[in-house]
Amino acid sequence: MHYDRRKFIRTGLVGTVAMASGCNSIGDPEESTGKITGDPSAGKGPIVLSTWKHGLMANAKAWQVLKANGTVLDAVEQGVSVVESDFSNRSVGLGGRPDRDGFVTLDACIQDHGGRAGAVAFIQRFEHPISLARAIMERTPHVMLVGKGAEQWALENGFVHRDVDIPEVRQEWQDWLKTSTYKPIANIENHDTIGMIAMDANGQLAGSCTTSGMAYKIHGRVGDSPIIGAGLFVDGEVGAACATGVGELMIRTAGSHTVVELMRQGRTPDEACQEAIRRIAKHVPAKEDMQVGFIALRADGLYGARSLYSGFDYAAKTNSVEGLVDAGYDRERD
Ligand code: ASP
Repeated sequence: MHYDRRKFIRTGLVGTVAMASGCNSIGDPEESTGKITGDPSAGKGPIVLSTWKHGLMANAKAWQVLKANGTVLDAVEQGVSVVESDFSNRSVGLGGRPDRDGFVTLDACIQDHGGRAGAVAFIQRFEHPISLARAIMERTPHVMLVGKGAEQWALENGFVHRDVDIPEVRQEWQDWLKTSTYKPIANIENHDTIGMIAMDANGQLAGSCTTSGMAYKIHGRVGDSPIIGAGLFVDGEVGAACATGVGELMIRTAGSHTVVELMRQGRTPDEACQEAIRRIAKHVPAKEDMQVGFIALRADGLYGARSLYSGFDYAAKTNSVEGLVDAGYDRERD
């Protein structure tokens, strides 16, 4: 089902969130480019931002962790875990759509304020890839484990298999096999990675990203989501960014790293995301249905987002704002 996010489905708004395209920064109207209402809490933290509508439930959990004096790393891990456990979600966790051979393969990564990172890619039958990514960060000398080796390490280190069979997903895949046409479609309801970036009340940053990747991808394909610098990048001194959409485009441009580096050079989060999208747009012919989006959070609490096509939104939670925000975009999607 196509889902028109321009119709502004909004849940749980308790603050004023700009709904104009082209501008989503909250907290620093001076630096914004459109109609924005200042959020007095921005700059102080906590601030939690997540991609897409499923970000609302993830933010709620992350917020709860922060309010209970959990670390920001705990918050970004536990926040996205909620979405991993939601088996009605078709693009995150074990409820996700399979690859073309019928296997649900999962990717995730996590990064903390100091730049420590963990990642896992191309794994099957684990409910919480994000926790596995964190364990790899904390318990091994490595950043990333993939496939069978990652699964073996997980089993040896206290993670257990979880088997989830969803007849509806299997049926859809069997229907897809009739044509076997690989064609990502932008902005499908309940589709896309969850990426979360957050700041605690002391200004510490962290980020997480977890996905089942593109539906019906080639078996073995890994997207941007578990790749530090592509799907997620955190530099505690500068800020954090994460991405969603066709991962190949983010990998080619080191997208999330680009956003953070542009903020380091003085761009606002909106401007940094916009420039990263502009670079990606060069690889995407007009009318090609390839959505990509970034969200970014600067170390001073200013945040923003941008996508290539209209229809990308993200969930924001601060002391005075809770809801979905439409990202600015470069191209109107029909
Ligand atoms: N970025 C993810 C990937 O390429 C997919 C998504 O965000 O929808 O695997």
